[in-house]
Amino acid sequence: MDTAEEADICRVCRSEGTPDKPLYHPCVCTGSIKFIHQECLVQWLKHSRKEYCELCKHRFAFTPSICLIVLLS
Ligand SMILES: [Zn+2]
Ligand SMILES: [Zn+2]
Repeated sequence: MDTAEEADICRVCRSEGTPDKPLYHPCVCTGSIKFIHQECLVQWLKHSRKEYCELCKHRFAFTPSICLIVLLS
């Protein structure tokens, strides 16, 4: 299986990164679940009320102030 030509996609919404919505890799997960949009991560954090990845248990490299700015905007 050759996955080398597959574009990186967001683990939440399954779309690619764009200049407007770049993909982040805020935890230590690898492969198809490595990337997430900042927006999707914020939504997920809001929904789950967790500050770490439930798969790798890595605390997201994402400052609470950025979350707050996004949540309040
Ligand atoms: Zn997304
Ligand atoms: Zn992870």
